Amino acid sequence: MQIFFQTFDGHNKCTQLPDTFTLDEFLKTAGKVLGFINRDETRSFRYTVGSKSLNVNNAQEFDRQKQYITNDCNIFVLGRLLGGWTLPDTLQTIAEQQLEVELSKADTRSTECSICLDTETDCVRVCCVWICREDLTRWLLERQFKMSCTLCSKEIMPRDIFKTPEYIATLRALKDEKQLLENVDCQRCITCGALMHNETMSARQKCVKCRRDFCFFCNRRWNVATMVDRQYTCGNECVYQTKITFQLVPFHYKKDMKIPNRRTCPKCLNFGAYDGKCKYHTCTVCKFTFCFLCLKEQEVCKKVYKSAYDHACVRTPVSQHYSMFPRLMSL
Ligand SMILES: [Zn+2]
Ligand SMILES: [Zn+2]
Ligand SMILES: [Zn+2]
Ligand SMILES: [Zn+2]
Ligand SMILES: [Zn+2]
Ligand SMILES: [Zn+2]
Repeated sequence: MQIFFQTFDGHNKCTQLPDTFTLDEFLKTAGKVLGFINRDETRSFRYTVGSKSLNVNNAQEFDRQKQYITNDCNIFVLGRLLGGWTLPDTLQTIAEQQLEVELSKADTRSTECSICLDTETDCVRVCCVWICREDLTRWLLERQFKMSCTLCSKEIMPRDIFKTPEYIATLRALKDEKQLLENVDCQRCITCGALMHNETMSARQKCVKCRRDFCFFCNRRWNVATMVDRQYTCGNECVYQTKITFQLVPFHYKKDMKIPNRRTCPKCLNFGAYDGKCKYHTCTVCKFTFCFLCLKEQEVCKKVYKSAYDHACVRTPVSQHYSMFPRLMSL
């Protein structure tokens, strides 16, 4: 089978593995394609498939996990915060830089563009609609290559639009990387691009590549005067801490009632603000409608607490915890 390693320069390193393989063969292949000097170096990195982590230090466990290594899959190589991993050009940059050339290779038809409505322009088919190259470029960049049909919402695969296998692989890797970085314990250094895994969950870390002291969670340079080294947060308006905390503000319909000014969607973890009216909030990303006080789905809150849009279902707003954020899993 064919697999891709995500390497130094952000390109896909394509290599072959036999359909059945041992940990030994996997390490040999990885070491060779990644240019490591010996097995210890190969083993010192963390390997992930999607958001799942492979154990390359235990043959028995690896044998159980290797079913997830399938044809065409992306395997990311992360520094364990003791060995940084450099990516001077991110996948995003590569995808952007090559976009124009790749779009010029796409199949087109002279028709009306569904965005600018110009007739007889060279349009590319994007699921249910046709879009001219110029608008398609803008559309892809705005969405950072997260593609779903503007009409039927169906997810669009890179191969539906693009022709070059390497470019398609880059876009697929970009998607995998985004998923990887959604994990609270994964981060990319904003200064040098090193991809890292936090083994201790302490906020204060040192990037091995650029040597800067930084907060792992908000990616800012470490400031001894304003930051404290805690688990999941530097204590100074840090990303995940902000997501699980809130201020109480007056509720629109009842002056004596208070409501959180912000909450994280329990379903997709998108951050949302109180709209100044009803206590039920519809997430702009996943469309889940939940109660800002008890965090339950609207219908459940109404049923369980016999509640309504202006009724305090719980005495104090239900709290959210760091454990709600995904972490790199072992398979
Ligand atoms: Zn157009
Ligand atoms: Zn469609
Ligand atoms: Zn760095
Ligand atoms: Zn921070
Ligand atoms: Zn949501
Ligand atoms: Zn409720």
